[in-house]
Parts: sequence; structure tokens; C-alpha cells
Amino acid sequence: MNVKIKLILMEIIVLILFSFSLIFSFDKQYVLLVSFDGFRWDYLNRGITPNLEKIRNEGVYALSLRPAFPTKTFPNHYTLVTGMFPENHGIISNSILNPFSNERYRIGDTVAVRNHIWYKGEAIWETANRNGIKSASFFWVGSEQNLPIKQPTYFYHYDHNLPYIKRIEGVIEWLKLPDDKRPQLITLYFDEPDSKAHRFGTNSKETNEAIAMVDSMVGILIYKLNEIGWDNKINLILVSDHGMTDIDEERRINIEEILKDYKCKFDGTGPVMMIDVERNKVEEVYQVLKKNEKNYRVYKKENIPSYYNFSKYPFIFPIIVIADVGWSLVDNNFLSRSTSYSLKANHGYEKDHLDMHGIFIAKGPAFRKGYKTGTLWNIDVYPLICKILSIEPNHLIDGDLNRIEFILK
Ligand code: AMP
Ligand code: ZN
Ligand code: ZN
Repeated sequence: MNVKIKLILMEIIVLILFSFSLIFSFDKQYVLLVSFDGFRWDYLNRGITPNLEKIRNEGVYALSLRPAFPTKTFPNHYTLVTGMFPENHGIISNSILNPFSNERYRIGDTVAVRNHIWYKGEAIWETANRNGIKSASFFWVGSEQNLPIKQPTYFYHYDHNLPYIKRIEGVIEWLKLPDDKRPQLITLYFDEPDSKAHRFGTNSKETNEAIAMVDSMVGILIYKLNEIGWDNKINLILVSDHGMTDIDEERRINIEEILKDYKCKFDGTGPVMMIDVERNKVEEVYQVLKKNEKNYRVYKKENIPSYYNFSKYPFIFPIIVIADVGWSLVDNNFLSRSTSYSLKANHGYEKDHLDMHGIFIAKGPAFRKGYKTGTLWNIDVYPLICKILSIEPNHLIDGDLNRIEFILK
């Protein structure tokens, strides 16, 4: 082969490699997962969310997002990023008692919240680390664990009072990083409209203002993404952890009063209460609650219907009481505590009641356009993100890509 042909051949090879690298970098996908705490699926139909409505028309819009039981903040945020039910990922409630060591995990206890020992799932940023891609979190349950392999590349410790605009600006800064530093997966969390609905009820002026306010944050986010040329490049997934339903003091059941003849340990009030009692009394206590079963359901841990996915974890107490939607389970301690106001709305109830459902809206290069679908399940969001990012998911999950893949292009 003469030198000229050799040179031409080499040029062709270089050209082929160059176009491959172009295709590859073009294909690199980015995901921004945003959560609006307690944003019930039908808040989108109140005519006060123009920015969210624009995105839902342009991208994929699901009727609702079914959470996992119990329909609480911590269990469901961790489900969204692990693809696991709480009985498998270990965050079975916002407040968890380890009955063997008497240690407790709870929202607001920063030491416990950062202790990796409570988290039994593989969060998406751990998956990202395993697959060699960068991730970032502007707040998310489980993102602050004190074990580097379980942390996003970049994250902040939770600060409830940090203005929303600062969180958005933080996300924009991450996207402005050079290619080799830029995270491909980013999470962003807003605590409203959950707080306002708890305090004032789902149909209150205050809740509507909070809904409109988070919607305006979506408008600002899109505007800022547009400014840096990222609004059409990023895959935006907008979700909520659960819905909300109105409650009142008339619909309260004092479980301790029903069990006044027994020495029980009660854990949790509101939609779900767990009860522990001496092993030889479990059946008796269960039967007493069963006899009085009105406006709630009672189960022994080993007999709870599989549909709750709430039996496997060792920290689940022997007896579980679940209030009917709108009802609240209380104990004497709850009633004796003087609260400045009582909750007007709550969540935590069974996952199939529509009031407990959240939102799912997505838009970006990986998603279909102008596509409407029915209810999606939040356990499937983790495998969906893994698929978009082309990373190997954890295989021990409850989610299933087959149930959700059809929303992708
Ligand atoms: P709840 O309505 O009781 O299920 O919980 C909602 C509250 O959880 C919010 O008002 C937040 O203050 C709190 N929260 C959400 N995410 C985090 C987090 N990553 N760390 C600490 N607290 C959080
Ligand atoms: Zn929540
Ligand atoms: Zn809440």
C-alpha cells in the first residue's frame, strides 16, 4: 500500500471516530427530577398553574402518580429514587423506631437523617456513582447519607427555609459547569403545597396560593433554563410524593381508649398507627381492635394484604391500624398535647385512593410529545431514569421499566 492510500485510510478512520464522538456527546442525556411536596394530582385542574399546564401539553402527562404505602413524605421520596417499596428500602415512615435498639429516625433529626444505617435501598445517585456518572441534589430524602458512595457528587444539607429561587439558581449553576464536571442527574425539592394544605385545608385560599406560587417557580426554572440554552436539552420530570385529603376533629378514633385494658406501645398517629404488645397478647389485642373495626382496618403484620407491601421490614410492629381516608387514629398522649392548631388535611392513607395520588409530568428529548396517559406508579420512576441515562439499575427493585417505558420516544 503506498503512502497516499495509507494517509487517506487514516483520514477516513479519524473522520469515523470523530462522528462517533459527536453522536455520543449528542446522545448524552440529562435528567432534572423535581418534587413538589403534597401536590395532589387534581390541583393541576384548578386553572392556577399555567406553567405546569404548558409543560403537560408539550410533553408526557399522566392522570396521576400512585405513591407507595404509607403515603408519607420520607417513604415516598426514597421510593422515587430507589424504585423500592418502603418495606424493602427501610424508610417505612417519617419517624421510625428500631425496636431492637430503641434508636429513632425522624424528620428534623439531622443526625438520624444523615445516618446511612437507616437506608436499605440503592438511591439513584449511588447507581450513578456505580456507573461512573455525576449527580447532584438540591435536597432529597436520602441524599445526605454519611457514606460517600451513597451520596450524590454534589449536594446540600436540607434547609427548610432556603428560598426556592436560591434552589433554582443552584441547579442552573450545576448545569453551567464544564462538561466533565456537570451532573447528568439533578434532583430539586420544594416543600409546598404540602405545608399550607396541612394547615389550612386542600380547598383554602392559602393552599391555592401555594399551588400558584410553586407553579410560578416552574416558570422561573424554565426561563432560567432557556437563558442558558438548556430548556430543550434537559429531561424534566415533575412529580410529587403523595396527595392530600381534608380531615377534621370529628373523625378521630382513640385507639388507646379501645385498648385501655392492655399495656401497648403505640407508634404514629393520623392515618397509620402501629401497635406493639407482649407476644402472647398480640392475638387478643388484634381481636379487640377487630371487634371495634369501624372507620379503620386492623391487620396483624403477617396477614396484612400484600397490596400494602407493608410486612417484610423487621421494624414494622406486630399490629398495624390504617384509618379510612379522612379519619385519624390518636392516642392519649396525642390528645393531651396542646397544639396551637389542629391539622386541616393529611396524607398517609392507602395508596389507591385518588386523594393520595400525586402528579407526573415530563418533557425533554427522551420523552414523547403531547402524550397523555393514565396513572403511573412511583416505584417505576427509578428504572425510567436509569433507562434515560443508560445506566445499569439496581436489580433488587419493585419498579418495572416495562410498565412505564411507553412514555419514552
Ligand atoms: P410530612 O408532610 O409530615 O410527610 O413531611 C413534610 C416535611 O418533610 C416538609 O415540610 C419538609 O420540611 C420535610 N422534609 C422534606 N424533605 C426533607 C429532607 N430531605 N430533609 C429533612 N426534612 C425534609
Ligand atoms: Zn410529602
Ligand atoms: Zn405532609
